[in-house]
Amino acid sequence: MYRSVIEAIGNTPLIRLRRASEETGCEILGKAEFMNPGQSVKDRAGLFIIRDAEKKGLLRPGGVIVEGTAGNTGIGLTVVAKALGYRTVIVIPDTQSQEKKHALRLLGAELIEVPAVPYKNPNNYVKLSGRLAEQLAKTEPNGAIWANQFDNVANREGHIATTAEEIWHQTDGKVDGFVSAVGTGGTLAGVAMGLKGRSKDVKIGLADPLGAALHSFYTEGVLKSEGSSITEGIGQGRITANLEGFAPDFSFQVPDDEALPIVFDLVQDEGLCLGGSSGINIAGAIRMARAMGPGHMIVTILCDYGTRYQSKLFNPEFLRGKNLPVPGWMEKTVDIAV
Ligand code: PMP
Repeated sequence: MYRSVIEAIGNTPLIRLRRASEETGCEILGKAEFMNPGQSVKDRAGLFIIRDAEKKGLLRPGGVIVEGTAGNTGIGLTVVAKALGYRTVIVIPDTQSQEKKHALRLLGAELIEVPAVPYKNPNNYVKLSGRLAEQLAKTEPNGAIWANQFDNVANREGHIATTAEEIWHQTDGKVDGFVSAVGTGGTLAGVAMGLKGRSKDVKIGLADPLGAALHSFYTEGVLKSEGSSITEGIGQGRITANLEGFAPDFSFQVPDDEALPIVFDLVQDEGLCLGGSSGINIAGAIRMARAMGPGHMIVTILCDYGTRYQSKLFNPEFLRGKNLPVPGWMEKTVDIAV
């Protein structure tokens, strides 16, 4: 029995991805982070950021946690905040899925939608949330803090302490490689540091969507980006504090038309309904398996569940509007006489 929802965060299962494993001759395993209470990998960051603020004496009962987020961190923070008696004020770019915004409202977050503008713009959602936290710290009776997931290393500490340790034990120390995309970098850098601490032989891969600048940074030393991706929650253009001191062994740039068919096939063939960033991750795991050769065990992250993107990723009209392939099954109607 868990004493609260907080104890249900983490200890997620590792699921063998059948087709990816068969096609590469490797064992490709996905860590089912959609099974966290807030249904994404970001519950871990939410929990560690709040616990860290409590330890530092920054949060008082009834205090406010402010964050700029693509949605999942806001959900994770809100789940933990509600369980511990805090409030959340969440700033989200208007481009993010309706489903994530609905979930945030449902959970009781105070939601502020803002136009999506680049990081260098002072009205970028991350910068806005920082300024808002400063204001609220002065006016809220119980104070306010800024979670600051991108540059608060309590985020990656959570992955060093939990995700990496779980992967190490769940694979009996046999894991050969870990690969994932980057939003804040908490997951990739944290798991990398944790696993390398266990064994220097574990190889780490970055799977970068188009439009992100990290692949060029780790391969050519310059931050530059080209193209775009419909995936949400990933695609970083700078070296966040969570990425400092980290470098991958492999780096892959994964276009949406490589990642999305993997997501669509997993629903139909393996009963796994995932969000787009999981597709980038699995495509990255397949590329890393090919680079390392057969017989290796490679772990990646199944970041969140597909229903969170039903109106976009699983909507034929949306896909056509983005010139992305629509799988036949998505438009098939049931034709059974009753
Ligand atoms: N996938 C999704 C769906 C996310 O919301 C996030 C977090 N923004 C990530 C992947 C990336 O995780 P991290 O912030 O730890 O890099």
